Amino acid sequence: MPKATETLLEIDLTALGDNYRYLTSKIAPKTKMLAVVKAYGYGSDSVAVAKELVALGIDYFAVAYAWEGEVLRDGAIETPILVLHPLPANFDLIVRRCMEPSIYSRKMLTDFIAFAEKQQQKEYPIHLKFNTGLNRLGFGKEDLEFIVEKLSETASVKVRSMFSHLAATEDKEQRTFTLRQIEAFRNHSEAVIQGIGYRPLLHTLNTSGILNYPEAQFDMVRSGIGLYGFGNDPKERTHLTPVATLKTVISQIHELPEGANVGYNMGHTTSKAGRTATLPIGHADGISRAYGKGKGWVNIHGKKAPIVGNVCMDMIMVDVTNIECKEGDEVIVFGNNPTAEELAAAIGSIPYELLTAISQRIKRVVYRK
Ligand SMILES: *Cc1c(COP(=O)(O)O)cnc(C)c1O
Repeated sequence: MPKATETLLEIDLTALGDNYRYLTSKIAPKTKMLAVVKAYGYGSDSVAVAKELVALGIDYFAVAYAWEGEVLRDGAIETPILVLHPLPANFDLIVRRCMEPSIYSRKMLTDFIAFAEKQQQKEYPIHLKFNTGLNRLGFGKEDLEFIVEKLSETASVKVRSMFSHLAATEDKEQRTFTLRQIEAFRNHSEAVIQGIGYRPLLHTLNTSGILNYPEAQFDMVRSGIGLYGFGNDPKERTHLTPVATLKTVISQIHELPEGANVGYNMGHTTSKAGRTATLPIGHADGISRAYGKGKGWVNIHGKKAPIVGNVCMDMIMVDVTNIECKEGDEVIVFGNNPTAEELAAAIGSIPYELLTAISQRIKRVVYRK
């Protein structure tokens, strides 16, 4: 890529392909791969990412909300799309754009069947979500009989898959809990299969699950963060490459005497004479105020330039006293150094949050190496 001359999020499709191949190398050849492209593809560009994954042979996509799937359909993505968190208000959009709802409660099942019947649908694909310990969304054991009965009364829907989400696949200390979740998932699914008389796809692993629980791959796995280059595990990190690089430039450099204030509310006062660089990126772009006052930093010519003072809406100021640089020079906010994971850790956060916070105001540039 040429040097950045403005704030850009670069999206490396070659890295995406490498991550995809690494993750698929960890699953059995017959196991399907679902790519999670919610939240703009973890803050990148969901259509560009989805197109690349289609070319690589992806089996399924998942989004959180129906309109995120609509963006994929508008982008000519024809692969099945699982909507993880639909609401009855979204049924019309889901069916109109041939998306497939996750059904997680008695009310959802009842309402969706009523909707499908009214539309005279036949065997419309749905996905049953089981709560096995995360206590977020999903049917419990006490709902299984209801599900089977409800499904036996209609031909308007057909269960395409059954799934569950695990609470702590990245945490080896929670292995007992995770294995209990997997066991509950197996039991719930088998009970429903007995009742409905056919076998939908089963899936329960996210990225860390793929890497830590190979015995629980079932028919499909769901990867998000791994595709974007993060593994929640130092050992796996070396096999994955960050897809997104956030770059900006130096707008202005200030030579400051000792005792000068920098930014709003005297957020920083220089302890000695030095230099700051002002960068065109701020909290409206996804750089939280929590990174201010020295917690966060950027990379300028390979050197660490700490953020000084408070993060403004459209700007940050960084200390470049010991860095040779000039106005117009390129700045790396995150990418390979620092990674989004390292930067997020500086404020007790995780790459998921930093990546998905990058606002739509920042231009996306997609490239291959
Ligand atoms: C977001 C999400 C995933 C992806 O998890 P990663 O840790 O990013 O791989 C998988 N399944 C469900 C239900 C999710 O909500």
